[in-house]
Amino acid sequence: MNIHEYQAKQLLKQYGVAVPSGDPCKTIAEVRSAAERLFSSGHKLAVVKSQIHAGGRGKGTFKHGFQGGVKLAHSVDEVVVFAENMLGKVLVTKQTGPEGREVQTLLVAAAETIKKEFYIAVLLDREKSRPVIMASTEGGVDIEEVAEKSPEKILKEWIDPAVGLQAFQCRKIASGLGLKGDLFNAACKLVAGVYKTWWECDASMVEINPLCIVEGPDGKENLVAVDAKIGLDDNALYRHKDIQEMRDLAEESPLEVEAGKFNLNYIKLDGNIACLVNGAGLAMATMDIIQHFGGRPANFLDVGGGASKDQVSAAFKIILGDPGVKGILVNIFGGIMDCNVIATGIVAAVRETGLKLPLVIRLEGNNVLAGKQTLKDSGLTLIGGDSMADAARKVVAAVSTH
Ligand code: GDP
Ligand code: MG
Repeated sequence: MNIHEYQAKQLLKQYGVAVPSGDPCKTIAEVRSAAERLFSSGHKLAVVKSQIHAGGRGKGTFKHGFQGGVKLAHSVDEVVVFAENMLGKVLVTKQTGPEGREVQTLLVAAAETIKKEFYIAVLLDREKSRPVIMASTEGGVDIEEVAEKSPEKILKEWIDPAVGLQAFQCRKIASGLGLKGDLFNAACKLVAGVYKTWWECDASMVEINPLCIVEGPDGKENLVAVDAKIGLDDNALYRHKDIQEMRDLAEESPLEVEAGKFNLNYIKLDGNIACLVNGAGLAMATMDIIQHFGGRPANFLDVGGGASKDQVSAAFKIILGDPGVKGILVNIFGGIMDCNVIATGIVAAVRETGLKLPLVIRLEGNNVLAGKQTLKDSGLTLIGGDSMADAARKVVAAVSTH
């Protein structure tokens, strides 16, 4: 699960990471009062930031032509004008795809003068089976580009999970970023806080880009997280009630949200052959074999080992909710799963949805004869597959001629 920048900053703040003060706003009235609070407390500059689950907002463009999803403002009125151009409008960035995302929340925050931008992130290094802290003096820019063109500019520090992050590792990063004096100490504290956030929230990623040296109104330099992104491990979310509440369904694919309600593992892809499979391994193999015979899978869908008739029916409706689907392949190997339950679910769903697309079904295993009989008795036009390869070939052929 992903969360918004303002929520990521709330979590970071709880773990001692310095973030600019600011408020999330959903209406222009809220924007105005947040801006009034900022300017009346002595800040000279505010930043208005579109909250969507995608990066590249600063350089993004709204569909109505307004440039930039992150804007600096010098007065309350200026903040409000920017907000009017962002709230409820669709922002397109490098990461949103051409359809963009509607901005439903703005972060109105204190902006300070940025002296230097850095990058810092914590991730899991799957090859080394350890968390890794990555830091770079090249902040505020596309880190993928830095990694490609000048990988030596990215410092990496791996953490032994048994002993945790050590103080010398924080110092290594702070000195690697070229910091001295108070900023060096601030960086050590910040690295520890960012790592703690990652660890305690069960995050899959915490990324701060840019991490900035800013100059406060008193001329003093500080280190603050100007942007923040946190991705969380869904499998550990049950341990974090407070984080669960940060979920923003408007930012997630509606079909994936619907699938979640029925405990189905569904991931939308951009091909045209939908598949309904039991078991994640078989589902992946099914996508491979579709591809192997020249087709393109429209989704990954694992209905699980013991799906009910209702789940199968829901799964069917979900895959049909994707307008790109031109054919369906059902591939079931009944172990725990009863093939007749699948068959009954399919028949019900085909009747309910008035399916007109080619539907290829390969059933094997537990109670397969009863399942095949149910399909036969239904009188529906279905294409049977004798083996996985046969079924895949048939669905690819049906889609290309349909
Ligand atoms: P992103 O484009 O989605 O990554 O959004 P960011 O939050 O990183 O903002 C983009 C850029 O806007 C940053 O790299 C900064 O240069 C600038 N920016 C964001 N917040 C502030 C701020 O508080 N003060 C100043 N001066 N610039 C900011
Ligand atoms: Mg950024």
